[in-house]
Amino acid sequence: MGRLILPWVIALPVLAAPADPSPVELQARLPRGGRVTLRLMFKKGLQVEAMRLPSSYLGKSPSRGEWIGFEELSPEGKRWALEALFPDDRWTEDEVRHIVRWPELESLWLISALFTGHGQTYDKVQDANPNLPEKLRKGDAWRIPKNLLSVDLGGERKRGTDRSLPEDGLDDEARVAAYRALLSFEEDRDGKYAAYRLRKGEALYSSVVMRYTDRVDPKGVNDLALEIAKRSGIQDVRSIPPGTLIRIPIRHLADPFQAEGSRALREEREVRAEVRRTARVDGGPSLKGVRIVLDPGHGGVDSGAVANGVWESDYVYDIVMRVRRILAQDTDASVSCTVRYPSLGFNAREEIRTPTRDAEILTTPPFVNDGESPSAVSVHLRWVLANDWFATFREKEDGRKTVFLSFHADSLHPSARGTMAYVPGAMAVPPRFCLKATHGVRVAEMKRGGLFQATAKERLQSEARSRQLAEALLQAMEKGKILIHSNRPIRNIIHRAGKSYLPAVIRHSSASAKVLLEVVNLTNEEDAARFQDPRFRERYAEAVVKGIRAYFRL
Ligand SMILES: [Zn+2]
Repeated sequence: MGRLILPWVIALPVLAAPADPSPVELQARLPRGGRVTLRLMFKKGLQVEAMRLPSSYLGKSPSRGEWIGFEELSPEGKRWALEALFPDDRWTEDEVRHIVRWPELESLWLISALFTGHGQTYDKVQDANPNLPEKLRKGDAWRIPKNLLSVDLGGERKRGTDRSLPEDGLDDEARVAAYRALLSFEEDRDGKYAAYRLRKGEALYSSVVMRYTDRVDPKGVNDLALEIAKRSGIQDVRSIPPGTLIRIPIRHLADPFQAEGSRALREEREVRAEVRRTARVDGGPSLKGVRIVLDPGHGGVDSGAVANGVWESDYVYDIVMRVRRILAQDTDASVSCTVRYPSLGFNAREEIRTPTRDAEILTTPPFVNDGESPSAVSVHLRWVLANDWFATFREKEDGRKTVFLSFHADSLHPSARGTMAYVPGAMAVPPRFCLKATHGVRVAEMKRGGLFQATAKERLQSEARSRQLAEALLQAMEKGKILIHSNRPIRNIIHRAGKSYLPAVIRHSSASAKVLLEVVNLTNEEDAARFQDPRFRERYAEAVVKGIRAYFRL
């Protein structure tokens, strides 16, 4: 990478509010003649005068204002703007050496945002420059290695999963913190609300409702999007210009986004602290002494969610069969499935044509899911059975090495794509629940497995370990190029029809770590197509096994 353009540059200060350092404006020459003003502002970053900018310098859908943000430029435009602003920087094959020019306006965060595409990578930029102080000094040369440089600038930095938002690719805690940092709390005569400025490429459904609240089902998302639009004075929800102020009434916010001092936020932070201090469990190289229970959702007469010509049960069963096979081949873990389709056995299939009508839960006696009993029976028997197996395991082995994974596919708002992981939120799990029979159905496993009890400390610990497992699974999927839900893929509660709840299979599971995976969103056409592809199901199963292995690695 050599210097392509030598822009002609002059810098002149502009007046601003006395508290903040004044912005710098400078005129940069375009390669084909003409000049454009660049403006570097304290905390707000770089803006470019849009009017005379050639179209090749503009990104896909820039906002229509007089000024556009740096992130709205095309890769070519970004490179040009940075070279104009920082003519002393050296661009080589392996790195960019950025020379600090305006220490009062620049920050490590800003440098990271401009060069890596994420302000949040500042800690990595700092790691790459161990000898420099965090406080910028004029003339300091900051090294941005190619692996941190944004793809737009020729770097190798991996982009996010779904759309390229700056938060993608962060771990869950950092991602939630970054989302939170985009909100500010305000009040008007209609009450308190969280203010959010919609960014380019973002929609009200996904980037506001699904991200900041616990609603994900189509009706819940649509209803709340309309309510928020009305509250924000928006006429047409489908075309909201970037920068529009969105007002989210605080009662709808998910726990991590509640106001400072709220109980919900305090509990959220307690869980995060628990995740950080919970030591990982060593499962050894072969996972010998690890007990895994796999639960394929639905089955029999209950085919689960149906959309776009695909139904849930057979496809999640197929993925579970693949996970089971890989675990048996590659590890010494002890693996069981809660459900078996008698006509198929424990086998995966390349083609799935029609819904399989026979399925049994492997309790004593087996429970045939033939529609005679309500579907709640089938759901309860799964955790009862698994808890009985875990009780046997715990008599001799390390109880921390127990994993329960339930596999499902969702029917969410069609704009949602990719995998989501649900973990049991400590506050949503009851301290005690006892099942001696369900709708008249009794099985031998209820004697030991039907009683679930957990102290507050145990519930917190259980959420922490489950979050560690969910994180390991999603990271393995990201590495395996499997699409992950773009807004908060790990959740600990679902809000539907005015109520908050947790699926019973993870709510009452006694496993040390338990996760319910929603593999895809069937109402999204691309997701539905992926689900039908046996290669996708195999890759998914591979990623699940890699994730389990990563969870048990110190
Ligand atoms: Zn399901």
